[in-house]
Amino acid sequence: MSDLNYKVIIGLEIHVQLATQSKLFCACPNRFGDEPNSNVCPVCMGSPGTLPVMNKKAYEFAVRTAMAMNCEIARYTKWDRKSYYYPDLPKNYQISQYDLPLSQNGNIEITVAGEQKKIRIRRIHLEEDAGKLLHEGNVGFSQVDLNRTGTPLMEIVTEPDLSTPEEARVFGTELRTLVRTLGVSEANMQQGQMRLEPNINLVITKDGKQYKTPIAEVKNLGSLRALERACAYEIQRQLADWEKTGVTMETGFKSTRGWDEQTGTTVLQREKEEAEDYRYFPDPDLVPVVVEKDWLDAIRKSLPELPIARRARFQTQFCFSEKDATTLVEDRATADLFEQALSLGAPVKVLCNHFISFWAMHANQRGVSIAELGVSAPRMASLAKLVGDNKINNTTAAALAEKLLTCPDDPADIAQRENLMQVSDASSLEKILDEILIANAKAVEDARTPGKKQQKAFGFILGQVMQKTRGQANPQVVNQLLQKKLAEKN
Ligand code: ZN
Ligand code: MN
Repeated sequence: MSDLNYKVIIGLEIHVQLATQSKLFCACPNRFGDEPNSNVCPVCMGSPGTLPVMNKKAYEFAVRTAMAMNCEIARYTKWDRKSYYYPDLPKNYQISQYDLPLSQNGNIEITVAGEQKKIRIRRIHLEEDAGKLLHEGNVGFSQVDLNRTGTPLMEIVTEPDLSTPEEARVFGTELRTLVRTLGVSEANMQQGQMRLEPNINLVITKDGKQYKTPIAEVKNLGSLRALERACAYEIQRQLADWEKTGVTMETGFKSTRGWDEQTGTTVLQREKEEAEDYRYFPDPDLVPVVVEKDWLDAIRKSLPELPIARRARFQTQFCFSEKDATTLVEDRATADLFEQALSLGAPVKVLCNHFISFWAMHANQRGVSIAELGVSAPRMASLAKLVGDNKINNTTAAALAEKLLTCPDDPADIAQRENLMQVSDASSLEKILDEILIANAKAVEDARTPGKKQQKAFGFILGQVMQKTRGQANPQVVNQLLQKKLAEKN
């Protein structure tokens, strides 16, 4: 044990459902949650003699993603048939891209524990999804729902550049933020819109010798947490397996494993020596795709500010911490809301403070994003301006924020109505101040005489005004008034 150490090697294959209106090769709606087998037609049901027609929007979405991940975009690609027999794919083949994917050789940067790391992207291609098998109730048979059959799937394959379960999770999070920001997928993982498949193995060094454990691929993970846990489990399992049997890449088999959420373990599905022969061959029903440079240029121009750049800008321009900037940018609508409120004149420091304090708190409590709280940019801006203009302090702002969640009024109106505004009106403050000055002749004298007691007397008088106004007097106004009064009586 003493001389043993190991390196973890993880690559990811990720399938992302694209948020197009229709399916990849027919006009059926691409929609989740409808009545089973209601969004189907002869093309996606695989009837002989039907002809697929490519959905250009799906292709564009995949190209957008590939550009954002710094990939080379192919000018010429084709479609291939990947044969396999499965009841949820009635054609008995999946239309995919084999040797000419629409893009390859990209990279994306991730930040783990403050350290930046570049993860290479091997390829991104498009393919059609399969349907779903339902095993519901104890009826003795399975049912097939073909609504998902033929919907557009984007497959992203990384190089094995990830070296911890945490890095894998961070990569998944980054990708989810990216596709949402690009508007190509909602990447709702509960609905299976993003599915993760890590392949993992170890390079073990013992007594100066190296051993590589057989690669295991964990299929179909439905959450980022499951991804991290499955990777962590695999590391320990492979290590223990090697110690017990000495099995290596040369002596063992590649395996496919499933994740059991309940037990927190992976379960062997099948072992294989080589990749199955899917008998890929070019689909004779589909013409190759030739993309024009102008079209690519137009897509490139339409790309929004990407999460990595926006996060950096939020840190430098608005003084957010890395953590806060990451959280904010993760939801594009929330980041947009922030910038919209800014453009409406909200003071930036105050607005930052509101976002990371009470707006974030209310969002967390409700399990929604800040954008989903239902408080509009103008009302958030108005609240921040009240603080910026010294009309209320931050304690009052927090109390008002809570009211904004249920009351549609403008915060200035609520503050006015509920008497929460700071008193800045000079004439009413002057009256109060006069009374205090008359009642405290000694303090007035001290405040006029330069020396040690002057500051103290000043503070005392201010305190009296605050007490009289229940903390709502604007200290700046009182200060000015007091200076003027003391000078007058000289
Ligand atoms: Zn169809
Ligand atoms: Mn695939």
